[in-house]
Amino acid sequence: MNYKNPDEHGYYGDFGGAFIPEMLYPNVEELQKNYLEIIESEEFQQEYQNLLKNYVGRATPLYFAKNLSEKYHSKIYLKREDLNHTGAHKINNALGQVLLAKRLGKTRIIAETGAGQHGVATATACALLGLECIVYMGEIDIQRQAPNVARMKMLGAEVIPATSGSKTLKDAVNEALRDWINNSTTTHYVIGSVVGPHPFPDLVARFQSVISKEIKEQLFEQTGRQNPDYVIACVGGGSNAAGAFYHFVDEENVKLIVAEAGGLGINSGKSAATTFLGTLGVLHGSKSLVMQTKNGQVIEPHSISAGLDYPGIGPFHAHLFKEKRAKFFSINDNEALKSAFELTKMEGIIPALESAHALAVLDKKKFNEDEIIVICLSGRGDKDMETYLKRLEDGSRKMEI
Ligand SMILES: *Cc1c(COP(=O)(O)O)cnc(C)c1O
Repeated sequence: MNYKNPDEHGYYGDFGGAFIPEMLYPNVEELQKNYLEIIESEEFQQEYQNLLKNYVGRATPLYFAKNLSEKYHSKIYLKREDLNHTGAHKINNALGQVLLAKRLGKTRIIAETGAGQHGVATATACALLGLECIVYMGEIDIQRQAPNVARMKMLGAEVIPATSGSKTLKDAVNEALRDWINNSTTTHYVIGSVVGPHPFPDLVARFQSVISKEIKEQLFEQTGRQNPDYVIACVGGGSNAAGAFYHFVDEENVKLIVAEAGGLGINSGKSAATTFLGTLGVLHGSKSLVMQTKNGQVIEPHSISAGLDYPGIGPFHAHLFKEKRAKFFSINDNEALKSAFELTKMEGIIPALESAHALAVLDKKKFNEDEIIVICLSGRGDKDMETYLKRLEDGSRKMEI
């Protein structure tokens, strides 16, 4: 079975494709025709791999979490994407796409961002490689994520507020697409996850696939086995999971687990659990599962973690869900918070709230003593300190009572 690669039209089973306004055809077609040849060329790989190693700090460690393993009676390894430059896996993709844009002769980069992590990664790549950078961000997210807005500005990016709709991530994507239509010859749109029209899901998955490539090598070095029994990752659009699954998805003996953001609960009306709540639809240029009304209006998602607060899921993951190749768990805000504090206390690692959703699967499923589980720790928790502090304060107030 080939789960890894889409067909020539960008379909993973029933999902994917390129549903775009006519004005974007030339750009998207240019990408479709050229992306594989460019990114697989020796010259590109040399520059990209050099930057991953010496600038991003790869390979990131695969860390055997002894204390966590004892508690959950299994062998738990953490893939430390939190130790990448800029604090998450997003930089793997941003650097790759900005390098690609340069080779396509583009001088101007646009990106969308929700929590600001992808915006910071893209602004970083543009500062390094000397391209103009414009980041679209929902007006409400700009208020919620002030430190990342400051970082982007210091890195030289222009941050433009998206003021339509709910003023959050999906509106920022719409603004970015509008910009791309108006500036198609000079501009490349760096999409931040495995979403968007073909070839973006495949392009982003390939740049993130370094995660599972390293896991294979590092696990073999540490255990004599290349394949774990399980790989667990959180999914917003799905890029860290796609990267962590990539070299395992076509090997049937590796079980894959996805953690979605349940928000306040699947049936609470405040959730982002797309595979539970979504139906077939088109969002941001591809056909996939989308949280929408019967009339096709997008339903506002909710998650405590801004990075998972997205009403869709990439076509790669929709296909894994439909074919039951991966098992999907919905993790609520409180469960993620609990797991974030547990990892911090037990292993001395403060995870991003997004990554904490993947950790929370440990409480939902029993594993055997000799089973090897790899969890993708997609990012670090610096950006979430305000939320964690609030939880600490709420906790100590309750203790006083
Ligand atoms: C953006 C982000 C995510 C969610 O995006 P994916 O494309 O699903 O990986 C998860 N974790 C962190 C730390 C992020 O910054």
